[in-house]
Amino acid sequence: LKDMNLQKIRADFPILSREVYGKPLVYFDNGATTQKPRQVVDAITDEYYSVNANVHRGVHFLSQQATELHEASRETVRKFINAGSTNEIIFTRGTTESINLFVSSFGEEFMQEGDEVILSVMEHHSNIVPWQLLAAKRGIAIKVIPMNDRGELLLDEYKQLFSERTKIVSVAHVSNVLGTMNPVGEMIGYAHEQGVPVLVDGAQSIPHMPVDVRDLDADFYVFSGHKVYGPTGVGVLYGKEEWLDKMPPYQGGGEMIQHVSFERTTFNELPFKFEAGTPDYIGTTGLAKALDYVSAIGMEKIAAHEHELTMYAMSRLKEIPGMRIFGEAQEKGSVISFLVGDIHHFDMGTLLDRLGIAVRTGHHCAQPLMQRLGIEGTVRASFGLYNTKEEIDILAAGIERVSKMF
Ligand code: PMP
Repeated sequence: LKDMNLQKIRADFPILSREVYGKPLVYFDNGATTQKPRQVVDAITDEYYSVNANVHRGVHFLSQQATELHEASRETVRKFINAGSTNEIIFTRGTTESINLFVSSFGEEFMQEGDEVILSVMEHHSNIVPWQLLAAKRGIAIKVIPMNDRGELLLDEYKQLFSERTKIVSVAHVSNVLGTMNPVGEMIGYAHEQGVPVLVDGAQSIPHMPVDVRDLDADFYVFSGHKVYGPTGVGVLYGKEEWLDKMPPYQGGGEMIQHVSFERTTFNELPFKFEAGTPDYIGTTGLAKALDYVSAIGMEKIAAHEHELTMYAMSRLKEIPGMRIFGEAQEKGSVISFLVGDIHHFDMGTLLDRLGIAVRTGHHCAQPLMQRLGIEGTVRASFGLYNTKEEIDILAAGIERVSKMF
């Protein structure tokens, strides 16, 4: 992104011009959540002020207009990930709810005691714990794909994990700790040869690269709106219609039914079968605006800009004495996890904060990965489309300054 464009983009995000502790904010916690452009916040406010009405059930003008906006947002999501049909776009509260919905529904229909799921060692807790809950209920087994010391999944070992009982593979597209971009296309290809479907956790890929679910041939793909410059509380489960058709509803309630009597209830068609209750129809408008916003810039351009930032940051950070970086995959997204000497990650994070630099510290909801790395936590800087090389210079100088204090 050219400097001028970048300045224009930054101006769309009012929060970026605020100060913390009298220092200009350097926001490097995009992996946790991204900031919102005016266009997204304005769309939300406008809808509350001028359209707000419940969707899908009103005869009146506002309800129809709200329904049209909500369903248009579904189409925006479909186009953004190149799904075949809006029937395949289920709105949820976020990645976590998407995975819980999936595990509950798919598990109920397709998994029996002794059946197996394949996960990777670098999964977020939200792609581990729901499977453990299912394991406790159903007696399924969890197999784990290991990685090498650069943070790359071992594909030969992955292939060895398949058995007659493998029912599903569920893996992160991009690690929220290591930044590793996993070769999910290749992994899906192999799984399909074994007749096994794959869920891709796209929480850390959707904001950073073009994603085409049909090109990947992903059976399921999930993400959160708030990590892609959209509002909190809205997310997506994409699933191939042929699978979603066979899966039972997750929650029961309004919207997801066709007819209810005390004797028998029939369920609504896709995608509504999985959307019980009043949806966050304002949130979906915000999400669609966010996807329009990044599309207008271009996902390829965003990916190139962030790649440049990441390469620059890797080289700057490596100059710092005692620097240890976790995750040096060949294919690496815009997330850098590190420790310096024996400075505790929490101390580093707290002192960087005093300099106006927002990073995340801790286990990043990936404790099994921390065990694999033999550490308790890291400091994590994660970049977004609005970050600059100047901000990385501030980070590098900040880390050096903090290091000298110890
Ligand atoms: N998976 C990954 C890879 C993530 O990075 C995150 C968020 N840190 C999640 C899942 C969970 O997302 P959410 O909290 O928005 O449901």
